[in-house]
Amino acid sequence: MVKYNIIPKPNSYISGDSEYSVSSDTPVICFEEFIEAGKLISDYLKTKPDGSDGSIHIKHVGNLAREAYALKITNDGVYIYASDKAGAYYGAVTFKTILMQSKKENGKAILNTLVIEDAPDNAYRGLMLDCCRHYFDVDTVKSMLENMAFLKLNKFHWHLSEDQGFRIESKLFPELNEIGSERHSRRLTNKTLGFESDGEIYKHYYTQDEVKDIVEFAAKRNIEVIPEIDLPGHTMAMLASIPSLSCDGEKREVTDVAGISDAILCAGNEETFVFLDKLLGEVCALFPSPVFHIGGDEAFKGYKIWENCEKCQARKNELGLKDEKALQVWFMNRVCEILKKYGKTPVAWDDCMSDDLDGSIAGQLWRQNAVSVIKHQSLKRDIVLSPTMYFYFDWKYSITPLKKVYKFNKYKMGFTKPEQRARGLECELWTEWIDGKDALEFSAFPRVNAFAEVAWTKLTNRKYKDFYKRLGWYKTYMKLKGINYSRIEGGFGLSRAFIYHLGGEGSEFKKSMELKNQE
Ligand SMILES: [Zn+2]
Repeated sequence: MVKYNIIPKPNSYISGDSEYSVSSDTPVICFEEFIEAGKLISDYLKTKPDGSDGSIHIKHVGNLAREAYALKITNDGVYIYASDKAGAYYGAVTFKTILMQSKKENGKAILNTLVIEDAPDNAYRGLMLDCCRHYFDVDTVKSMLENMAFLKLNKFHWHLSEDQGFRIESKLFPELNEIGSERHSRRLTNKTLGFESDGEIYKHYYTQDEVKDIVEFAAKRNIEVIPEIDLPGHTMAMLASIPSLSCDGEKREVTDVAGISDAILCAGNEETFVFLDKLLGEVCALFPSPVFHIGGDEAFKGYKIWENCEKCQARKNELGLKDEKALQVWFMNRVCEILKKYGKTPVAWDDCMSDDLDGSIAGQLWRQNAVSVIKHQSLKRDIVLSPTMYFYFDWKYSITPLKKVYKFNKYKMGFTKPEQRARGLECELWTEWIDGKDALEFSAFPRVNAFAEVAWTKLTNRKYKDFYKRLGWYKTYMKLKGINYSRIEGGFGLSRAFIYHLGGEGSEFKKSMELKNQE
């Protein structure tokens, strides 16, 4: 009897004591709507069915929850049951994983019979990629999406606007790309790390055609792409492009400094909202997702600028707002009104959460010290959990080891009541010190494997030792696929500077890293 290694661990898995074999002669018979699920299997088997070798059925049933599936490998065929496209796709992912691990004989895959019943614990299982601090080309983004789909993650949060670069094409405001997508150092500068400007012209953004291509690629894999335009802070690239959006109207440059700047959009100037209405309208049209991330984090650094701006102060007084934080909440609500017009529901980081914030704006927890705020807000609005200490995968493995990621427990954090609206979990890949595919994969994997199981599998069904055993097969798979997963899982960590240099071709750092990263 063979037990296959599946991450995330299914709810229920019962092995049979018999065998069934499939080959490229096995037809995949598929409910029309589940075509992507069928293709996943037939592409792997390179199916040229002649009907002689039994069959694989993907069937529609009404009695399964969203994203749930059942997979049966019996003596007379393979059956995947689901009530929606996502469930069918995940059934196919599980079956493909089994096929990859199966014994092969005379062009046939010999499968152990089994029954798997499975459904996710969290509806929202996300991964955020910051493409502003460093840009990742379309192929790298697609490769990350493929890896996500293989682990049944379903939300790709795409961070597209930052102090250090504006990375999505705007046809209405071409200056956002001509000026805002370019900075004068590839590497971000940081005094503590001793990083100075390297003087390289670093200019990148995704064209609207590339965005559409990525969105479509993701959708085929049951991944929804949620764009983020960070407001009103983290906007240096926007202000550099259109100086009149700032409080003082002065000319600025896209920054190459790592860290938080005080750049902030003027809240008192109506032009800001005319601009946002047009820009957000343009961006919204590119993404079918009903959700849109509006940032809202770390704007406090710009509050001093608002304090010294006549227009912002006039706005604050006119509205009877008590301070700049309240002015930011008003700002976020105004952006929310714009997005509603375009049929979108916003999500924002926990920094701007307050009872006065529009109830339709979902909150995303990131700061450890905001847990009580977010617990309170979870009774009023949808919440996504991405606490820094567990799910920030740009952090060193010594601070966030694999085991720690796996031990995350939303109940221990206080999300225990059924009336709390904790929609799910998200892991974060900030890229100040991640440049290129190698460094990205090193930071992500195998922590994303652990994250995927935490997001999908019920707490009562999770055991680290058991996960770690199954991870063995995934490591072999990643090695074969050329995914540069980290062989370091905790204990000691490599500095961020060290990880950064993973991206530099032929560097001494990279060479020594390769030695360390060998099994
Ligand atoms: Zn102002």
